Amino acid sequence: MLVLEYKAVVKKAQSVAIDEAIRTSQFVRNKVLRYWIDNRGVGKKDLYQYNTQLRTEYPFVKDLNSHACQASVENVERAISRFFDNCKKNKPGKKGYPRFKRDTRSVEYKTSGWKLHPTKRRITFSDKKGIGELKLLGKWDIHTYPLDLIKRVRIVRRANGYYVQFCVKVDAATEPRMANGEVGLDVGLEYFYSDSNGYHEENPRFLRKAEKAIKHAQRRIYSKEKGKNNRRKAKGQYARKHLRVSRQREEHALRVARNVCKANAYVAYEELNVKGLVRNRRLAKSISDVAWSAFRRWLEYFAIKFGTQVVAVPPHYTSQKCSGCGNVVKKGLSTRTHTCKCGCVLQRDVNAAINILSKAKSTGGHPGSNAWGVATSTLLGATQACASCDVEPRIPRLIAVGSVKHSSIAPLPSKGEAAK
Ligand SMILES: [Zn+2]
Repeated sequence: MLVLEYKAVVKKAQSVAIDEAIRTSQFVRNKVLRYWIDNRGVGKKDLYQYNTQLRTEYPFVKDLNSHACQASVENVERAISRFFDNCKKNKPGKKGYPRFKRDTRSVEYKTSGWKLHPTKRRITFSDKKGIGELKLLGKWDIHTYPLDLIKRVRIVRRANGYYVQFCVKVDAATEPRMANGEVGLDVGLEYFYSDSNGYHEENPRFLRKAEKAIKHAQRRIYSKEKGKNNRRKAKGQYARKHLRVSRQREEHALRVARNVCKANAYVAYEELNVKGLVRNRRLAKSISDVAWSAFRRWLEYFAIKFGTQVVAVPPHYTSQKCSGCGNVVKKGLSTRTHTCKCGCVLQRDVNAAINILSKAKSTGGHPGSNAWGVATSTLLGATQACASCDVEPRIPRLIAVGSVKHSSIAPLPSKGEAAK
């Protein structure tokens, strides 16, 4: 599955109609979820029947294309099965009980309710929400794919406007690798990652760099009177600054992951509980700023693309153990150099990276199964793998900018960061 994304040119009245369609799809989702919660043991079929009932009950639900309503039900279904999966596998921590949504930003159509203009530069939504015809900007050409390969069309609202995504049922092309190295990666705060060959990838710290401007934009919101237009505008400026940072981060993670997979046949990384780490308040901002989860997701993606083997190892003693002799050399976080009695002196993270690689090779590690988080996606005319289509539900979403080649692919920011 590829996802092509275009920015849409939207008139005022159309934006009202799109918001209304988004709100309706959220309404259907929450109603169906409520129904599932209140009626223990109801099955898939009951959920769809309840959806039909909603359509007769509420005229505004009927106005939304029937397949778009179904897509909302599918969304609930996915949330439920994810929850059951986690329970079955006894995943540590929270199991992800399905939650109600308050801030949905997209509405998804299937193969009906929309029509592409013959030039494929325009799309018309024909249900009774009155969205009408939208002009599409971006050069990644949707018309190189036959119409019947387009399985989903999504309208996404972001801080800087509306985007139309097409999920196209094709496999991402594979590319040859440039070299067949083996490498262990230790991600950290000092460097984005350090590898077992002694290379350090700098940490770009996009948030720190933009922090001043973001704080300024945030303060501006409170200086405007509540409920007034200027306040709304200030909020938009603030959200767009965040959107920019999250795009930069995602693009950086993508570029680095791509380079790693392109140059290596075997990549080992340490499985980190990023969510758990971010709970440490003193480190939270730095950790969020380095985008490890995105990095991991992209590693998995490019592993397929370049035929690289990517394995994750559990994080035990990788930084304390000596990579030369195997003795444990205790050190605090602030000790940056690993010095062992056996004469082994290494930068701390490099020592850890070597341990990660040898651990992966000795235990076989395991394919990084947790790396397929579902992210949201962005950028003009982008290519992504689709997270909600039937074919392969857990592929990361990929995006490329305009007509540019794959090196500039960038995915979208994750939910909370993008717009507030
Ligand atoms: Zn040693």
